[in-house]
Amino acid sequence: MMKGKYNSNISREELIELYTNKKLSLKQLGLKLNVNAVTVLNYMKRYDIKRREPSQGMKGKKHSKETKKKMRRLMLGKFCGDKNSHWQGGKRKVNGYIRFYAPKHPFKGQDNYVSEQRLVMEKELGRYITLTEIVHHLDLDRSNNNIDNLHLFESNSEHSSYHRFLFSLVKNITGGKIK
Ligand SMILES: [Zn+2]
Repeated sequence: MMKGKYNSNISREELIELYTNKKLSLKQLGLKLNVNAVTVLNYMKRYDIKRREPSQGMKGKKHSKETKKKMRRLMLGKFCGDKNSHWQGGKRKVNGYIRFYAPKHPFKGQDNYVSEQRLVMEKELGRYITLTEIVHHLDLDRSNNNIDNLHLFESNSEHSSYHRFLFSLVKNITGGKIK
């Protein structure tokens, strides 16, 4: 259904063996399978392979409370200009999307806000989402920014064709009636 995206053949068994059993990270998987981490992530979604909790990936090593606090502060500092401002205060809903005040974000909107789905995906991938990439909500709920509900498309055209595909699917099932 998504042409081009899944050209290389990575099987579900292979992914489960490397990721779930051998506990390779997304980055290591990408290197091994010669694709980028986003592709690996999309494959995992496609095959419905559960993501590990981040701490499990560290081979049982747990962060102390202090380290967690530090990491949280770093993340906030990264996205939030005023470190003393209340996080809640910089949050708002626009057209159903949750947006966060992030004046120092390189890809912030004109309003100095960035949508939460992009921030969540950026945190997941450990890099910024480029302006051409689109983060899509699988359940079509714009405010459900759980990482499991998000899918990264490389371009708007790829994203649009997926929506057209969904649209035609619904149309087929309902016999043309779409609410
Ligand atoms: Zn979408």
